[in-house]
Amino acid sequence: MELLKQRILQDGHCFPGGILKVDSFINHQMDPMLMYQMAEEFSRRFQGKNINKIITIEASGIAPAILVGYIMQLPVVFVKKKIPSTMENVLTTKVYSFTKERDYPVCVSLDFLSSDDHLLFIDDFLAHGNAAMGIVDLVKQAGATIAGMGFLIEKVFQGGGDKLRKMGYHVESLAMIDSLDDCQIKFHE
Ligand code: 5GP
Repeated sequence: MELLKQRILQDGHCFPGGILKVDSFINHQMDPMLMYQMAEEFSRRFQGKNINKIITIEASGIAPAILVGYIMQLPVVFVKKKIPSTMENVLTTKVYSFTKERDYPVCVSLDFLSSDDHLLFIDDFLAHGNAAMGIVDLVKQAGATIAGMGFLIEKVFQGGGDKLRKMGYHVESLAMIDSLDDCQIKFHE
């Protein structure tokens, strides 16, 4: 998506280790107008896939996911990174965090995920695919299915997209980055 690519070039910052900071429009301050346009793009790309619910993971997936839910007129459930003591009927799994370099537990209530659900997973970044694999595990535990996965930014060089597509998932990324070497942002052609 050209608009997002231009914004990344204008306001994104590279850090060593293949990290891209987009704090001024996605991860800290947010641009709702851009976010809305990105959500419309997802809605177009996943049209006709019989999706009945959007799933995401806190915190950065929530903003794009809620706009996709608004446009597609579907509920949005977010997977939590802390297990609330009051939560019943809970499914849990572990996700490895690329930015924090450790495993963390995540959970979702079975009240909001069932075997009837055909889900669209939305997140900000796709890197190694660990968050997505956590979602796959929770969705499988619930007996639900995944209709597709949409990411604002995919770092192709970290292999998550390749892995998920080989597993047969319909993955759509609005900006695909082939390399961040020498702090140069190279987009996938
Ligand atoms: P994965 O689980 O695919 O390895 O990594 C995806 C998650 O890690 C995303 O939810 C995102 O929060 C975080 N992440 C991975 N790479 C980056 C990055 O370059 N920049 C930012 N801001 N977050 C990232």
